[in-house]
Amino acid sequence: MADDRTYDDRDGFIWFDGALRPWRDANVHILTHAMHYASSVFEGVRAYGGEIFELTRHSERLHYSAQVLGFEVPYTVEQVDEACREVLRANNLVDGYVRPVCWRGSEQMGVSAQRTQPHLAIAAWEWGVYFGEGAKTGIRLDIAPWRRPAPYTAPTQSKAAGLYMICTMSKHHAENRGFDDALMLDWRGKVAESTGANAFLVKDGALHTPTPDCFLNGITRQTVIKLAKQRGIEVIERPIWPEELESFEQFFLTGSAAEVTPVQSAGPWNFEVGKLTQQIQADYANLVRGKLANS
Ligand code: PMP
Repeated sequence: MADDRTYDDRDGFIWFDGALRPWRDANVHILTHAMHYASSVFEGVRAYGGEIFELTRHSERLHYSAQVLGFEVPYTVEQVDEACREVLRANNLVDGYVRPVCWRGSEQMGVSAQRTQPHLAIAAWEWGVYFGEGAKTGIRLDIAPWRRPAPYTAPTQSKAAGLYMICTMSKHHAENRGFDDALMLDWRGKVAESTGANAFLVKDGALHTPTPDCFLNGITRQTVIKLAKQRGIEVIERPIWPEELESFEQFFLTGSAAEVTPVQSAGPWNFEVGKLTQQIQADYANLVRGKLANS
């Protein structure tokens, strides 16, 4: 059954600046710098069977993302880790999605934010399979009308809220045209990623993935590269042009929320949900549930 409760009106607890607060009381003032100028960074992490997968790497990335934007997460990586576990427990979640967000506060209005204080909140909730049935059948991608910006025009290695503006616009554009998501090209016209996950293509038993020089080098992406190598699968990181998509047999996306999701089409190009994709999907599912060594 679809859950149509809004995200501000739920039971449970949110960790907010050092302590758990009742869910509905985890609010910020309207004159918060982040609200006006996107001075906010976040993470998306999944817990499986009570264990948060690659938690410390996500907490470290949160710190890095904030530093890129010029502010500091006001808690150490260890404290962020512990707060994530605490919020999971407080909400009685075993399998769940954890969302830390760090933002500049309300001490200052205007572009300058030198005097703002950083805040950290962490929520957690149940979040099923991101693409639902698409995880089995493969999803259909539109080609996004927006391109990933060049690294000298935006902080592309930061998981900064501002970078998601074009993702939401591209996702809506795709959904309105009957697609599941969109494939974004970069500013040069090369294949980049979807609106919230990294891209892998399969040809002749090898994996090809775009070089992450203007988008997140996802934690799931790095995990999948490792899993593939453990199976003796060749992984080639390189620039990929959209015209080349025709020559690939399989295509899948990777992300903490999206996990490993096969793609059945991207624009005019079609792909099969093949064995290699299914193998990586199964390996990832086993790894996150502790059934495969993460060495
Ligand atoms: N690209 C974008 C735009 C994303 O939002 C995400 C999800 N964080 C990813 C890639 C994949 O990153 P990860 O595997 O670390 O979740």
